[in-house]
Amino acid sequence: MNKIKQFFQRSWHLIFIALCLLIVGISGYSEYQAQLQQQHVDREVSSGKIPKQQLHENGILVLCYHRVVNNHLFSDKFALALSNNDQLHEYSMPIDKLAAQVHYLKKHGVRIIPMATAIRLIKANKPLKHKYVVFTFDDVDSTLTSNVYPLFKKLGNIPYTAFIVTSNTGRYDNGTRLATWYQLRKVLRNSDVTIGVHTNNMHYLIDNKPALKYARNYSKFKKDYRKSEQIIKKKTGHYTPYFAYPYGEGTPREQQYLANHGMITFSLDNGIVTPGYDLRQPLPRTMVDDHSWKNVIEKWVDTNAN
Ligand SMILES: [Zn+2]
Repeated sequence: MNKIKQFFQRSWHLIFIALCLLIVGISGYSEYQAQLQQQHVDREVSSGKIPKQQLHENGILVLCYHRVVNNHLFSDKFALALSNNDQLHEYSMPIDKLAAQVHYLKKHGVRIIPMATAIRLIKANKPLKHKYVVFTFDDVDSTLTSNVYPLFKKLGNIPYTAFIVTSNTGRYDNGTRLATWYQLRKVLRNSDVTIGVHTNNMHYLIDNKPALKYARNYSKFKKDYRKSEQIIKKKTGHYTPYFAYPYGEGTPREQQYLANHGMITFSLDNGIVTPGYDLRQPLPRTMVDDHSWKNVIEKWVDTNAN
């Protein structure tokens, strides 16, 4: 017994060092594991996939489109050639493909619902029996009124939400013209169309980073947001509770501000929204292109829910 006591008395510092090393080792290992996990998540986001377990979930998938071009028209073909570059944000969808996508969803029993219904389902916090999709269109050039509007009407009044850059309506942008208020009002008379804001005038990059990602732009952002709501109110008669981040991103402080003002916000991360989702956080939204249609949307639709 005495020997053990002597051993501890003589070597307490060694034991102390060994314990420290053990703690450092364990925390280093868990840090390493967390990094691996993060890399995995990053890869999934950048490869345009959704987490595997979400494939088996009934839920709501919010789809994001930009320009929808009539591939039979020369002027639209020109826009298509101009815009389908590697800049994710400017992908143009041929109208035939969009029609086929709507047919595919309907054929597979997916319900296409308005934004307000989606929010109601999330707030109700009850398990869903079906898969749901919400259509959204960002930036809103005149192809929304010339192409999407008649197509969605013909397909049975498909509901959708248009996110408008309120200072840019009517301007020319990359070969096509953004929708004017006159055109938008025609679309908005349709009760299946919801309007949202996509900033008033902060849809740009600074050194390749979205303007809203800069903490120093916070006051500018607040002013810009207020202005966008004023314009929406003036032009449509009411405010909107929906805000889509340009390029899908902002700062946590901006998010908090928008949530405090009752705004429901949208990112461009892939993901299925399930009931009970924290609506103070941005809702994920999937940018639709050929790759994401195959790897996210069709995969989710084709996988049976648990
Ligand atoms: Zn945009």
